[in-house]
Amino acid sequence: MPDVLVLVDHDGERVHKSTYELLAAARRLGDPAAVVVGSPGTAARLKDSLARHGATRVYSAESTEAEEFLVTPAVDALELAVREASAAVLVSATTDGKEVAGRLAARLDAGLLIDAVDLDSSGEVTQIVFGGSCTVRSQVTHGLPVIAVRPGSVEPEEHPVEAAERELALPPVDPAASARITARRAALAGDRPELTEASVVVSGGRGVGGADGFKVVEELADALGGAVGASRAAVDAGYYPHQYQVGQTGKSVSPQLYVALGISGAIQHLAGMQTSKTIVAVNKDPEAPILALADYGVVGDLFAVAPRLAEEVTTRRAES
Ligand code: FAD
Repeated sequence: MPDVLVLVDHDGERVHKSTYELLAAARRLGDPAAVVVGSPGTAARLKDSLARHGATRVYSAESTEAEEFLVTPAVDALELAVREASAAVLVSATTDGKEVAGRLAARLDAGLLIDAVDLDSSGEVTQIVFGGSCTVRSQVTHGLPVIAVRPGSVEPEEHPVEAAERELALPPVDPAASARITARRAALAGDRPELTEASVVVSGGRGVGGADGFKVVEELADALGGAVGASRAAVDAGYYPHQYQVGQTGKSVSPQLYVALGISGAIQHLAGMQTSKTIVAVNKDPEAPILALADYGVVGDLFAVAPRLAEEVTTRRAES
């Protein structure tokens, strides 16, 4: 079977869960092959966990420059790997992943599908389009399919295999045509899981009323072992940092449980969370659009409901 290339999301030491999801999706189309782009030695550290999740081949595209530039090394690496016979390319539909996918498709004159939430063995993809207002079934009809899959859409699976290794020689990056990373700062997420990887996300909106109000959101997230998210109105008002924004112009999440506190449910917010498996919304307005989407809706004051919910969850966890 031809390789289905998966661009590996990693932090140099650890493979991100989104990659295991891509490997599971890739197995529906062919033999998954992982492409690791990073500084020398990265692929060797990640190989075992990639093989455990079904990567029959691990391409290493390593250079000191690979970590210094945004997206270009990843596009170069995938372009090289594609030449080794591949059936499709899968990347995570993160901000960087979508840019890589777009640039790669342009270079290869390939077909591009963004924001896929499912795909089948024929290559047909379920895709969220128009800011989340429509779900469509799409298939690439021209060239190699390049597909950006939303994190959290596909269940990761262990599928141990032997992984062959293959090196790719990255070309030098043209600094005039690429963005150089000048500094890195660790995101302040504390002990909470990464937003796009969390199986529980508790988000706060304008209804939280201020930065102090977000303590209620954090307390419920911590009781549930989840990540904290926020609506754009909340981050624009300075209640919570921008990196936690969920939605069309923020992050896309698809957790097992999404709790929306004081969020009205504008289409641009729904675009980033409507594929969550179970949605719980707390809103004092019974007409809030989010209540139409929620599996469980509570009409009430979030400052009364969320602390009681956190208390109940903590008590039940202690009992079990
Ligand atoms: P509001 O719409 O003001 O809703 C606040 C809600 O809180 C209300 O429903 C109210 O009833 C409820 N409430 C108030 N007090 C309480 C209380 N004490 N208890 C319970 N409920 C209470 N938005 C995003 O979120 N993410 C995006 O990525 C995004 N991208 C956008 C891109 C574009 C191009 C545009 C034009 C807009 C985008 N937006 C995005 C903004 C979006 O349109 C909405 O303005 C925003 O989502 C509203 O945020 P909110 O629900 O927190 O605020």
